[in-house]
Amino acid sequence: CGIVGYIGEQNSKEILLRGLEKLEYRGYDSAGIALLNGNGVHVFKEKGRIADLREVVNPDVEAPVGIGHTRWATHGAPSRVNAHPHQSASGRFTLVHNGVIENYAILKRDYLENVELKSDTDTEVIVQLVEKFVNNGLDVEEAFRQTLTLLKGSYAIALIDAENKDVIYVAKNKSPLLVGLGDGFNVVASDAMAMLQVTNQYVELMDKEMVIVTKDSVTIKKLDGNIIDRDPYTAELDA
Ligand code: GLU
Repeated sequence: CGIVGYIGEQNSKEILLRGLEKLEYRGYDSAGIALLNGNGVHVFKEKGRIADLREVVNPDVEAPVGIGHTRWATHGAPSRVNAHPHQSASGRFTLVHNGVIENYAILKRDYLENVELKSDTDTEVIVQLVEKFVNNGLDVEEAFRQTLTLLKGSYAIALIDAENKDVIYVAKNKSPLLVGLGDGFNVVASDAMAMLQVTNQYVELMDKEMVIVTKDSVTIKKLDGNIIDRDPYTAELDA
């Protein structure tokens, strides 16, 4: 399983799909992408191979921002509904996640009793919590941070907001995740191989860190909000 994300000026779709193909070796049962452009978010997902996902992706949609996922089901059977990306009740927030949220049932009971979940995954509570906290008045970054502090378990997460094309929100705990730096774009992925097509400059992430990624900036924060300074490194890898 794995995740990818791209924010920049090019069409993200092929970059995401190729990135997911590079992650195929990690194993998966379904795959999906979400593309964000001036018309909103477009989600495509399918049980099976990346080749099956390619069949359902609308070739006419172009978007400078996108996130993608290969799923290894832990909670909820492999199916299109349970495949990621998952969306919040209003459709505003869209998220991909690798890992396991151990306390998802408690979070659902404590915070989401009025929200009808669409999937059987542990993941969906994350995106529903973000929306819930935004509805309660927090800004998106703060709502994301608040959500992360409640999660017990492992995660590599990428989140997009249909109302803001300028940011991908990212977080990591006990699941692999790296940021890749580009000129006028930035990428994230579970593994450098998935980004090597576009960059060999990477920034490592540590557990319980969140990242605000724009096309020109990468801001790493601890979950207490403190900014972390970390130098990138250049990887000598062959594509
Ligand atoms: N636990 C999540 C699910 O079952 C994510 C699994 C994964 O890491 O792909 O949907």
